[in-house]
Amino acid sequence: MQHCDTLILAGWCVPVEPHDLVLTDHAVAINDGKIIDILPSPDARQRYAPGVLVQRPDHILLPGFVNAHTHAAMSLLRGIADDMPLERWLSEGVWPLENRWVSAEMVRDGTRLAIAEMLLSGCTCFSDQYFFPEIVAETAVDLHMRAMVGTPVIESPSAWADGAAECLSKAADLVHDPYADHPLVSSCFAPHSTATVSDQTFTDLRVLADQLDTRIQIHLHESAQEIENEQNSNGKRPIERLRDLGLVNASLMAVHAVHVTDNEIALFADAGVVIAHCPRSNLKLADGIAPIAAYGKAGVTVALGTDSAASNNVMDVLGEMRTAALLAKVEAHDATALPAAQALRMATLEGAKSLGLADSIGSIEAGKWADLACIDLRHINSQPVYDPISQLVYTVQPQQVSDVWVAGKHQVDNGTLSHIDVAELLQRTSEWQYRIAGEQERKSA
Ligand SMILES: [Zn+2]
Repeated sequence: MQHCDTLILAGWCVPVEPHDLVLTDHAVAINDGKIIDILPSPDARQRYAPGVLVQRPDHILLPGFVNAHTHAAMSLLRGIADDMPLERWLSEGVWPLENRWVSAEMVRDGTRLAIAEMLLSGCTCFSDQYFFPEIVAETAVDLHMRAMVGTPVIESPSAWADGAAECLSKAADLVHDPYADHPLVSSCFAPHSTATVSDQTFTDLRVLADQLDTRIQIHLHESAQEIENEQNSNGKRPIERLRDLGLVNASLMAVHAVHVTDNEIALFADAGVVIAHCPRSNLKLADGIAPIAAYGKAGVTVALGTDSAASNNVMDVLGEMRTAALLAKVEAHDATALPAAQALRMATLEGAKSLGLADSIGSIEAGKWADLACIDLRHINSQPVYDPISQLVYTVQPQQVSDVWVAGKHQVDNGTLSHIDVAELLQRTSEWQYRIAGEQERKSA
């Protein structure tokens, strides 16, 4: 008998790679945080002497979801500025609140709340862009969550930086931060959008990104208004401007990319640009529907993101996956567009690929980190089970996530967070609500 730290026996295992494969009655063995074996459960019982045995006979075991785009700390602003178009939502809703409230303390508490929500809905890795990224990194490590931490770059001053130059110097510092070498954390640069970053800053950023071999993610072609504004001020579409500045390449993640021409899709495909698709945020801000089927046909990598809780207003990738699958069909006028297995791939392996992490996460393969989720199908809405992948994409609710492991650590056990004090988290969140809402009321009185 061979020792392993944890052995999970599951009714079904969906490894994502190979594509569209469902293994019945299979086990995954974990040791030192990594997957060491995937094999039929009867064989696993004979081969392994596990430290911990987890039996989930009515469940699907799958790779943990990758949330490719979010602003975690904004979970503290959930529901405070709803029902506005993007430009008003930013200028009248979000930015005044951020100017007043963003601090290291707010980012720590908001990121904790978001990580708890993401873990409970099966997510094991998130790609963030927000002020105080060093606090986001510290919080992710503290809660043992995998994160790609994007350092914001924006011309206007914030509580974190005086302007773009300080953003860039702090961004370079973060790459050398003690957390940068942590197995759970990586970093990238996150210029906010072409509307908020100058040509000179983009040029400096490109030099820095090349020197440090760092990826860049940016909100791009999110709304028709954004494109029109850019054309009015620069005579170019945002993608054209980035291309002319040398930023359209395989290190770029275009977040949203809702409004694109056929030539721009071809440009993304040729350059190896990846897309973070955030369908519910796009719906709520009335931005439009991204042409996901066309991206797929062109061979562009598309990942899924929830965007922030201020524009979604939940952070479960499960719901994002279902919305993406439904919208892709309507947008393409083709019910075969984005089939369930492909939607699941976007939420896992394509997400990992979009962050440059496909060698270490995103599928259940020996040698990868044991970032896993288990989903209980023994719920009325998921029965009967003819096709487990179809159930995952079209029926499952976040409350059906029973277990989550991040690098082998059992973070959600039978639906309960193992290492986060929920009572304390809710108390801190209420305190923020009281402070923020109290001031809003005093202002309007
Ligand atoms: Zn965003």
